[in-house]
Amino acid sequence: MREPVPTPQWLSALRSHVGAPAAAPRTAPDPVNVPMIRRWCEAMGETSALYRDESGAQHPNRQGVIAPPAMLEVWTMGRYRADGKRERGNLRGIDELDAAGFTAVVATNLEQTYLRDLQPGDLLTEQVLLESVSDEKRTALGLGHFLDYSYRFTDQHDALVGTMRFRILKFRPAAQPAAHAAPAAAAPQRPPHPRPAITRDSAFFWDGLKERRLLLRKCARCAHLHHPPGPMCPRCHSMEWQTQVASGRGTIHSYVIVHQPQLPGFDYPLPVALIDLEEGVRLVANLAGISAAQARIGLPVEVQFAEVEPGYMLYAFGPRRSP
Ligand code: ZN
Repeated sequence: MREPVPTPQWLSALRSHVGAPAAAPRTAPDPVNVPMIRRWCEAMGETSALYRDESGAQHPNRQGVIAPPAMLEVWTMGRYRADGKRERGNLRGIDELDAAGFTAVVATNLEQTYLRDLQPGDLLTEQVLLESVSDEKRTALGLGHFLDYSYRFTDQHDALVGTMRFRILKFRPAAQPAAHAAPAAAAPQRPPHPRPAITRDSAFFWDGLKERRLLLRKCARCAHLHHPPGPMCPRCHSMEWQTQVASGRGTIHSYVIVHQPQLPGFDYPLPVALIDLEEGVRLVANLAGISAAQARIGLPVEVQFAEVEPGYMLYAFGPRRSP
């Protein structure tokens, strides 16, 4: 048993703000609108007529399109500023944890609740409260504190349309590997690679990787392939499923080059891509053997497997070798 550690003064001071706003309320720069809905659906591969059929023919009880519920937070996100500063500063707690040495951050949980459909013209306002600050915890990433925030989204009539709980971990980063460090396999002293959250729905995918196979979930009723795997076929709602081994060939649909935040276990700048597999399924992947400068939309790619740590196999996409 550890001796109880006295609560540091900065933590007591921060906890006096629990239940209070963590930032000023923010009204969306634009109302809910069709162009943003369309672009979001294109990026996500979302094809439901609910989000694109303006005639309302698909849903006689509604007038026109609705916004995908998962876009809830999109509308009030801060604008980009030319000077790189955040529009309204950090949420309360971020600066305090930074000052105490917990400078790295990772989002760990996000739960949203939707109270009504949003339609073009709705103007959202977001209010965020600091809900809790945990004691110091030892995690796989290092020592840190969890911060919980609760969001309320209201419309132009001040009616609540959705809520969100957001949990982040602010942690003390492990020593960073040198910028010229060799790739994962050659650097045994690097911090451990964070593990994915494996569920009963996704376990087959990770088991397949151990055998150097990229497995896709295939509906046993209508043969629809989908990823990421879930409990139900999104097309016919069947719960019966099997797997199909993907060819591993695809093209880059889109990509980002991640510079910040830098998590232990990865090399930066880190290219992350959306890959369109030739089976018609899209998945998120790291790129291997393709530099940030070489990445481009439409580039033909092929899956690679790498045992990043003993017993832990990951996939990435690299230059196409097979025809
Ligand atoms: Zn199906």
